Amino acid sequence: MIEAKGLTKHYGSKLAVNQLSFSVRPGVVTGFLGPNGAGKSTTMRMIVGLDAPDAGDVTVNGRHYHDLPWPLHEVGALLEAKAIHPGRSARAHLQMLAESNHIGLKRVDEVLEVVGLSAVARQRAGKFSLGMSQRLGIAATLLGNPEVMLFDEPVNGLDPDGIRWVRNLLRGLAREGRTIFVSSHLMSEMALTADEVVIIGRGCLIAQIPIDQLLAQSSQRYVRVRSPELAALKTALELAGATTVLEEDGSLSVRGPDEIAIGELAASIPVVLHELAPQSASLEEAFMELTEDSIEYHGGSGTAPVQSPEGAK
Ligand code: ADP
Repeated sequence: MIEAKGLTKHYGSKLAVNQLSFSVRPGVVTGFLGPNGAGKSTTMRMIVGLDAPDAGDVTVNGRHYHDLPWPLHEVGALLEAKAIHPGRSARAHLQMLAESNHIGLKRVDEVLEVVGLSAVARQRAGKFSLGMSQRLGIAATLLGNPEVMLFDEPVNGLDPDGIRWVRNLLRGLAREGRTIFVSSHLMSEMALTADEVVIIGRGCLIAQIPIDQLLAQSSQRYVRVRSPELAALKTALELAGATTVLEEDGSLSVRGPDEIAIGELAASIPVVLHELAPQSASLEEAFMELTEDSIEYHGGSGTAPVQSPEGAK
């Protein structure tokens, strides 16, 4: 369990994180979403004591990170994949971490195997691609078999197979009852990985919400309707206050009433229906709606909050 209460952090005059409160439960994957510069990395650094909050507090399993006697046994964190001594081999890097936390060397080989780096374990980490560095960072996160794990943009630099692998790994770790907190700017990926999301913008909490609920409440949600008497139904729906769009494929997209209300209205006319299919919004659309007012850096396109202008960080 991670609990943040009123977390606040300035860098000079820049307010990076503003009175942020949220909790990350065990047993689920919690996604950490926000436009670029929203304060996700700063928040994660505060969780593991790499940055000190100016105000507020964050605890892991009820304790501050710096009070944990053997931190790697309780919290694993992948924050900067490239933050590895370049001259050290992958195995030596993990070995050093293991020794400093009383972890046996057998575990080093185990985690190298889990992340698929056994064959290159003796190569210098400085020569690793971003994807390989991410795998090494994940190995370090798993090393102490901790109950709480943080991952800052773990799929950056991974190919589609690697991305699927990370998704399955995180979901599996959550199923084991661990607390998994993962940031990403890839909305579609988060929709497949996370059960719940903490959404921030300009350092402030916008929402903490289960993904299903986020999608259900979006105004982008609509119902696709097909009928041999579409004109009559369209008129009745608009009179009842719905917004309708006649699509090129001959279906009617209806926003406002849900499928139950549309079905009942059709029966009351009566009009025969050939299709009545609720369509959920994409997470990207739902996210854009929530963060519209809190985009710090606009990219060239309308999808600025989703694709960070810097791409991979
Ligand atoms: P995110 O991870 O959501 O992209 P960050 O936590 O990296 O956001 O950054 C939040 C804000 O704080 C940004 O405006 C960023 O420029 C600023 N910031 C982050 N780290 C530093 C730092 N070390 N010094 C000054 N400003 C920083």
